[in-house]
Amino acid sequence: MATYKASSIVLKSCKLGEADKIVRLFSIEHGIINAVAKGACNFKSKFSGRLELYNVIDSEISRGRNLDVISQAEIIEIFQNISSDFFKFNIAQIISEIILKTQSEGSSSVSIFRLVYVVLKEINRCAFNDSTTLKKILAFFIAKLLKIMGYVPLFETCSICSRKLYDKEDTYDTHNLRGFAFSIKYGGAICDDCRRNAGKLLFVDSRCSNELINLFILKIEDIVKCNISEKNMKELLYILENYFIYHTETNIESFNYLKKIENI
Ligand SMILES: [Zn+2]
Repeated sequence: MATYKASSIVLKSCKLGEADKIVRLFSIEHGIINAVAKGACNFKSKFSGRLELYNVIDSEISRGRNLDVISQAEIIEIFQNISSDFFKFNIAQIISEIILKTQSEGSSSVSIFRLVYVVLKEINRCAFNDSTTLKKILAFFIAKLLKIMGYVPLFETCSICSRKLYDKEDTYDTHNLRGFAFSIKYGGAICDDCRRNAGKLLFVDSRCSNELINLFILKIEDIVKCNISEKNMKELLYILENYFIYHTETNIESFNYLKKIENI
């Protein structure tokens, strides 16, 4: 039976029968891997503690007819704080669902793997019950994933007529925007002339528009330090969620977790 090696993150797991476990891994080399770990639920299993959610593992896997079979797993890194915190766990669940629904078996992406790793590390590291920071991390993740997948919204030119929206002293580069009308359908900002034909528009004020652009540009350590108001965070996540769902044609059910978090 052919075997292969994979460095991956455990994104989902469920019990199969009495003692086995099915795990869904996101790997650097092979994208999504669905595999069975035989006997993983037994007390004395060689997999004990190694296939927990969000563990980073090196594994050896054999090709199977339906499901591949994990023969060995070694832990590289554990994010032990994620599963013990309600907010952290829910944000990590959203990230898992997005990856499992947008990535496929056999297609590898080092940049997406690195993004998931960096984001989970930041979720693990931030303070417990810190929903404000966690929402910033989620917004960063969605923006950066859109960027890697080639779906960055247009901010500098009109998304319908391509006219430049800003003059020299008020440019996209200097982050000194006046705000804009944003269309999810057309994929970005809309000029004054095209507004009446653009359908549903979201009016993003100057501060919020800078924050939205920064999510696509800045590093995670800078995003978590940004002071974003609750109101703007809600607006940013609304735009990113709906933009993501519309352009990737993926329904992310766990976005509902966010509403749960907001109601607490
Ligand atoms: Zn226009």
